[in-house]
Amino acid sequence: MRRLRLVFGILIAALSISIGVAALYLSKGAPLSVMATPAADAATQQRSGVEITYIANEGVLLSADGKQVLIDGLHRNERPFSHYAFLPPAERDKIETAQAPFDKIDLLLVSHRHYDHFHAEGVGLHLKHNPKAVLVSSQQVVSEVAQNFKEYEAIKTRVLAVTPPLKERVDVKIAGLEFEMLGLGHGSGSFSEIQNLGHIVKLGGKKLLHVGDVEPDAEIFAKFKLVEAGIDVAILPFWFLTGKEGQAIVKEHIKPKHLIAVHTETLKAASITSQIKEAFPDAVVFTTMLEKRRY
Ligand SMILES: [Zn+2]
Repeated sequence: MRRLRLVFGILIAALSISIGVAALYLSKGAPLSVMATPAADAATQQRSGVEITYIANEGVLLSADGKQVLIDGLHRNERPFSHYAFLPPAERDKIETAQAPFDKIDLLLVSHRHYDHFHAEGVGLHLKHNPKAVLVSSQQVVSEVAQNFKEYEAIKTRVLAVTPPLKERVDVKIAGLEFEMLGLGHGSGSFSEIQNLGHIVKLGGKKLLHVGDVEPDAEIFAKFKLVEAGIDVAILPFWFLTGKEGQAIVKEHIKPKHLIAVHTETLKAASITSQIKEAFPDAVVFTTMLEKRRY
């Protein structure tokens, strides 16, 4: 497996670098879940480890060592009957316009371009309002931001497209953060052209895995040797923890110390949670937006 370490000290406008042949690949209206009340933020920030704040659907904010990474946290409810969780507009606006407590984000990551994970204007607005934030994502996501965010010229120096192909990975070091991008894909059929990326973020002395909407395909996961990597916290869509194939992948190919389920269907949260607990009693199921966990 090819690996590259990229060190980006200075961002260059719409950076597009290729190193080697196959090495660097630049290239829904559900009712609201209960919202957690912001409590004891200052106290929890000072403790060790990494804090994970559930945003909505697969959105999470990772915080440690004075650094923050937001994955899949800028999306908008554009479908009247979505099964998935979205922040209410007032909270969504805080993220998009980088208001506290979302004013210190260093890095935006997006697994893929689907509406329940990403909104081009939302991402563009956050970058506009938070001059230190950087976006690193697939060419598909970056192209949508470039095409749909009117003020793209003002933010493009902080946007980087990196697209590892299926079953390939790229190491990235940027904005004082280290992470890996994994080409996981989004399954077959109409989603086969979707560039779905996994991420292993190193933060607070932990390795956190986020997989976007990958299908539970053992062959793909075997390729990444995640057990050797030593995953501390795996943040997985709920179907990995309720279906037999996904459960086998978790046990054989990921073996994380801690499990968090996301992407829960809001109307089925209770039954999904009890199914997950049957197979993984210690798993955390994120259903309450803005709830926090520390690892
Ligand atoms: Zn998707």
